[in-house]
Amino acid sequence: MSQSRPDVIVVGGGVAGIAASVRLAGEGARVLLLETRKKLGGRATSFTDVRTGETLDNCQHVALACCVNYLDLCARLGVDHLLRWTEEIHWAEPGGRISTMRPGPLPAPGHFTGSMLRATFLDLSEKRAIAGAMLAILRTREASGTFGDWLRARRQPERAVRRFWEPVVVSACNLGVDRVDASCAIKVFRDGFLAARDASRMSVAGVPLVRLYDPAERAIHDAGGEVRLGVSVSRVGETSVTTDAHETIVAERVICAVPPERGAKIIDADLRVRDTRLHALERFTHSPILGVHLELDRPVMDLPHAVLLDQRTQWVFNKDETPPPPEVARDGAVIGGDVSGGGTGATSGGGGASGGQRLHAVVSAADEWMGLTEEEIGARVLEDVRACFPRAHDASLVRVRAVKEKRATFAATPEVERIRPTITGETSLLLAGDYTRVGWPATMEGATRSGYLAAAACLGKDEAWALSPDLAPALLPRMLRR
Ligand SMILES: Cc1cc2nc3c(=O)[nH]c(=O)nc-3n(C[C@H](O)[C@H](O)[C@H](O)COP(=O)(O)OP(=O)(O)OC[C@H]3O[C@@H](n4cnc5c(N)ncnc54)[C@H](O)[C@@H]3O)c2cc1C
Repeated sequence: MSQSRPDVIVVGGGVAGIAASVRLAGEGARVLLLETRKKLGGRATSFTDVRTGETLDNCQHVALACCVNYLDLCARLGVDHLLRWTEEIHWAEPGGRISTMRPGPLPAPGHFTGSMLRATFLDLSEKRAIAGAMLAILRTREASGTFGDWLRARRQPERAVRRFWEPVVVSACNLGVDRVDASCAIKVFRDGFLAARDASRMSVAGVPLVRLYDPAERAIHDAGGEVRLGVSVSRVGETSVTTDAHETIVAERVICAVPPERGAKIIDADLRVRDTRLHALERFTHSPILGVHLELDRPVMDLPHAVLLDQRTQWVFNKDETPPPPEVARDGAVIGGDVSGGGTGATSGGGGASGGQRLHAVVSAADEWMGLTEEEIGARVLEDVRACFPRAHDASLVRVRAVKEKRATFAATPEVERIRPTITGETSLLLAGDYTRVGWPATMEGATRSGYLAAAACLGKDEAWALSPDLAPALLPRMLRR
């Protein structure tokens, strides 16, 4: 295609840009995807650790079953079988007591009733208060202010907020209850937990994230499109872009799928004046996430993951779970699975053969961790793991690798939620990205939706064509929302 003029140029090869390109190419549009890095995936990606040669994810990425468009994208890329699924979420209290949430026999929204009643980390009055707020969530259409205000108005006990609402919200929205927009948090509980029995099934990639997005290059290429990696775009116009190498490429349409602060720098100044959607791009603020890869000298947990209660570390994932069958990469190297016996070469398999254990810890809304050294981070996480897993009491760190993502996601405050731009606007430039107004928090699902909708706009198709139907809500959630 490099000889002929593309129909659509997509700038940015994160999940949003990939989603847009794959849909466009699938419909026979000549698409040109330009990505500044040497690989696709954007913020949902992996890197090679120079110290060990390992392929590590920047951070564990989780997708729930309600992320129907992201899962559709994985299926289109032929990588859906690489996701590992679980219905269970484990909550670890200080001292080691574990409560497991799993859907029971009751229809939604009552499917977690049994688990909730059995959970030991909340008392009965806290559980009653949470149940009341859940019913209010099912009835709520719009909410203003922060979710913290919303919870206070529903008289939620302090411990219910700290042990239940906060861990879920901070993981899903990357902002604590006192900063996050109320509607954003309410959506997480309604669509992710209450609406449908299967909505909260959770998946993680069984291979390094980069392997989920590698096939996009081939898919776009096979459909007659082109992906150019290592090409930085310095100017975006309505029907043309200019690269850092001073090449100007013209197309029918341009989709700008870079984060808002980048868009503010590269979109033509004239467009930014004419198109009111673009006026607030510079006003987006961000919230950091910290991903910590740890190797301990002994196994400390058998669970696949756990939410750590009352700790500064929110989640720990066990990377020594049974790995999926090794896959053979295009270059013939074995990827995924435990090929190393505890050291180099793989990410998703374990270091179990060395007698130790590999964990991955996640800290969302990690502002106060950003100034810490890797050593301090490792020590803090280990302290938190020890608090909740008594077997870790005498464990020591063999290795730690902390990945700080200062601009992990936009900060979903009420102020920022108001300035999220639409995909189409007063000019013909299309926007895509998790920050666009797609009604989702900053997630791979939000990014995929934006890409699909931008592709639909290029092709003159509607939302029903673009998006997969949401999981069908059960009867009671449907009735309560009327
Ligand atoms: C640490 C961390 C943990 C996360 N955990 C989760 C999770 O568990 N579940 C979940 O759903 N989401 C999670 N997210 C959020 C998720 O990764 C993002 O919402 C999603 O990947 C955003 O995709 P995007 O395409 O909108 O943006 P990006 O991924 O930022 O893609 C934009 C792309 O544009 C490229 N680009 C920028 N400037 C230029 C230029 N001038 N020219 C060409 N290309 C350019 C960039 O290199 C990048 O590849 C997490 C994010 C982080 C950082």
